Amino acid sequence: MFDTLSEKLQRAFKNLRGQGTITEENIGEALREIRVALLEADVNLGVVKELIEHIREKAVGQQVMTALSPTEQVVKIVNDELIAILGKDTARFNFASRPPTVILMAGLQGSGKTTTSGKLAAWLQKGGHRPMLVSVDVYRPAAREQLKIVAGSIKANLYEGDLKGENPGPDLVERLAREARRDAVNSGCDTLIVDTAGRLALDDDLMKEMERLKKLLAPQEILFVADAMTGQDAVNSADAFHKRLALTGVVLTKMDGDARGGAALSIRHVTGQPIKFIGTGERPDAFEAFHPDRIVSRILGMGDIMSLIERAEEKLDKKKSEEFAKKALSGDGFSLEDFRDQLRQIRKLGSLQSIMKMLPSIGPFQGIQQMADQVDENQFVRVEAIINSMTKKERNNHEIISGSRRKRIARGSGTSVQEVNQLLKQYVQMRKMFKTVGAGGGKLQRSLMGQ
Ligand code: GDP
Repeated sequence: MFDTLSEKLQRAFKNLRGQGTITEENIGEALREIRVALLEADVNLGVVKELIEHIREKAVGQQVMTALSPTEQVVKIVNDELIAILGKDTARFNFASRPPTVILMAGLQGSGKTTTSGKLAAWLQKGGHRPMLVSVDVYRPAAREQLKIVAGSIKANLYEGDLKGENPGPDLVERLAREARRDAVNSGCDTLIVDTAGRLALDDDLMKEMERLKKLLAPQEILFVADAMTGQDAVNSADAFHKRLALTGVVLTKMDGDARGGAALSIRHVTGQPIKFIGTGERPDAFEAFHPDRIVSRILGMGDIMSLIERAEEKLDKKKSEEFAKKALSGDGFSLEDFRDQLRQIRKLGSLQSIMKMLPSIGPFQGIQQMADQVDENQFVRVEAIINSMTKKERNNHEIISGSRRKRIARGSGTSVQEVNQLLKQYVQMRKMFKTVGAGGGKLQRSLMGQ
């Protein structure tokens, strides 16, 4: 997501480099490139026009700031303008002053509504809430079954209800919704997530049903779930839903795919409603609150350190990391067993590629995002397989790993003796490096330990 746009924008900025001041002329060329990049990313035409105008107004005649080069000034302006069209601040989630908070999920079939209902429930659970899920899709038994499976996988409460053979229609939908709310209150749940029926295209019956649900439930949130891969179609249907229902926000799903980013960059501007969350995969935890500034930072190649840190805080075992740092920096150094533990920890953060893409492509990490595409994810697997093939004794004392042992390890792990040799060499070097740092005054040690 955003990879191509990001590359093209960086090219436009690069061409500005070396210019003394920003003039109508040199900015003109850069703006043309930015315009093409945005249009190719499928950003709504109106949005592109307005964006380019704003950037031009701000950039031309800009006083040359001493602290920033002209390129940096333009990057900063583009940065601020992109953040502005995405809605500047992270949108807040509305909770009812008196529970239960009701969340109505709207969207077309296949947009990811049911999956997102589950993700939202998991997100609420993490925040200390007790959500209840209900599906009022009385037309498709499979949809209700799917939500049941989703709820089971995250151990969330589900109101199943009894259709009692009633004809599928608005009355049954309302009865289920009413019962679910009552059940949520009775079972001490503070939030109710209502997964509604989707259709393949916009239709009046569906809208009417949503309007009736809105009237009945007075929800705090009406979230429109849109598939980012469908680009401007997602923007148009969000707009149509907003006109009938007054949405409170949008969830953009499938942001992990190769969507060009147009929907993300247009939806707020066209509908006036903020993107509140994004879906980044099929699993229940592939879900994040949407932060405009972080996304723009990613688009402009400046990485997204904040999200990476949050992910690390959530997924990594802090105690283990601290123990590793202490061991690694001490005179004895860390064992191959500790090394394997650390590798496992890092892998919990996601693929190496996705981690590298969150690092800034400037400063010490220059070029790292480009390298990400060449990373061989299997390398991790091979290294772990090699270490797994060692005995515990070998893992705790690499010096005993003789030639014949290396042969056995290579055979056991399905690798070659060269690969085993290489891993051992890298390990020894790394150990030495850490020890040197550790002996060098302990400053880094303290900072690694967060003291
Ligand atoms: P619904 O018909 O709107 O309820 O859509 P579903 O929840 O059944 O989702 C449709 C498909 O999209 C399923 O295969 C989901 O696993 C998939 N999906 C949903 N959200 C995401 C996402 O953020 N990323 C990816 N890659 N797939 C998703």
